[in-house]
Amino acid sequence: KLYNQVQDLKGSIRVYCRVRPFLSGQSNAMSTVDHIEDGNITISTASKHGKGCKSFSFNKIFGPLATQAEVFSDMQPLIRSVLDGYNVCIFAYGQTGSGKTYTMVKQKLDISTGPKDLSDKNQGVNYRALGDLFLLAEQRKDTFRYNVAVQMIEIYNEQVRDLLVTDGKIRNSSQTGLNVPDANIIPVSSTCDVIDLMYLGQRNRAVGATALNDRSSRSHSCLTVHVQGRDLTSGAILRGCMHLVDLAGSERVNKSEVTGDRLIEAKHINKSLSALGDVIASLAHKNPHVPYRNSKLTQLLQDSLGGQAKTLMFVHISPEPDAVGETISTLKFAERVA
Ligand code: ADP
Ligand code: MG
Repeated sequence: KLYNQVQDLKGSIRVYCRVRPFLSGQSNAMSTVDHIEDGNITISTASKHGKGCKSFSFNKIFGPLATQAEVFSDMQPLIRSVLDGYNVCIFAYGQTGSGKTYTMVKQKLDISTGPKDLSDKNQGVNYRALGDLFLLAEQRKDTFRYNVAVQMIEIYNEQVRDLLVTDGKIRNSSQTGLNVPDANIIPVSSTCDVIDLMYLGQRNRAVGATALNDRSSRSHSCLTVHVQGRDLTSGAILRGCMHLVDLAGSERVNKSEVTGDRLIEAKHINKSLSALGDVIASLAHKNPHVPYRNSKLTQLLQDSLGGQAKTLMFVHISPEPDAVGETISTLKFAERVA
C-alpha cells in the first residue's frame, strides 16, 4: 500500500494503444490486428513470403470498437491530478491517418462553420478533459478557488509558433530557452471559452499553410492548460498543467522520393519524435541522464516530463495490411517507452 502511494507520488509513464476501425468503403479489407487480449496485441505480418505474427504489451489497448467515452474514462484520473497540482502530458502518436486527431479532438475543426455540436458523443479528449476540469473545480469550490488559462502552440521544423494570436499575425517565438514560450496565455472560465480559442488556433494554423499543403500532419500541436488553485483555508497555492499534444505523423518517408521542403520537414519530424522517445525511455528506465535538449518539443515540456509529472503516450495504429510496416514500427516505438 505504502509502496503504491510512493509510486503514485513519483509520477508515472503509461502507454496506451488504439486501433482505428476501417473507414467506410473498406469493409472487405483484412485487419492486420490478429487479436487483442487484456494488454496484449498481436499483429499479423503475413505476406506472400509466409505467415508471421508479432505481439506487444501495453498498459491498455483499445480495439476498433472502443468509444470516445471509454477511451476518456481511462484518462480521467490524470485530469484530477492536474487539479491536485501535478503536471501531465498526453501525447497522440502514430502515422498520418491512424486516428490521433480523432482521439484528441474528434476531427479537424471546421473553421468555416465554427463551433457546432458540443454535446456530440464523439467529441475527443481535449473537450472532455476541459469539461471534467471545470466540473471538478466547481465541485471543490468550497475548499479551493481555481484559475484556468490556456496556451496553444505549434512546432514546425523546430520552430515554435503561438497559435493564440488575435491580430492574425503569426510570430515565431523568440524564446530559445526552456519551458513554454512567450506565447499568449489566455484565462478561461468554461469549456466554451476553450473551444472558441481552439477555433482561433485552428484558423491561425491554417494561415501558415497553403491550400494544397495542409501541414497539420507535419507539425506538432500542443494545447496547454494551466491550473492554479488556492486552498481557501490555508491560502496555499497549487499549480498544475496539462499538455495535450497531437504529434506530427510518425511515418518514415522514402528519402529517394522526397526532396526540398518535404525532406527538411521529414528530417525535423524524425529527429523530434526520436528525441521524445529517447526522453520517455530514459525516464521509464530511470536513467540518470535524460536528453531533454535534443528537440524543441522536449525542451518545452521538460518541466512536465519526469519528476512527479505524469505522462501518457497514446499510440495509434491503422488496421490496413499496407500499413503493417508503420504499425510495427509504431508499436516498437511504444514498447521502447513502456
Ligand atoms: P491522424 O490525425 O492520425 O492523421 P485522423 O484522426 O485524422 O488521423 O483520422 C483519419 C480518419 O479516420 C478520419 O477521417 C477520422 O475521422 C477517422 N477515424 C480515426 N479514428 C477513428 C475512430 N476511432 N472511429 C471512427 N473514425 C475514426
Ligand atoms: Mg491529425
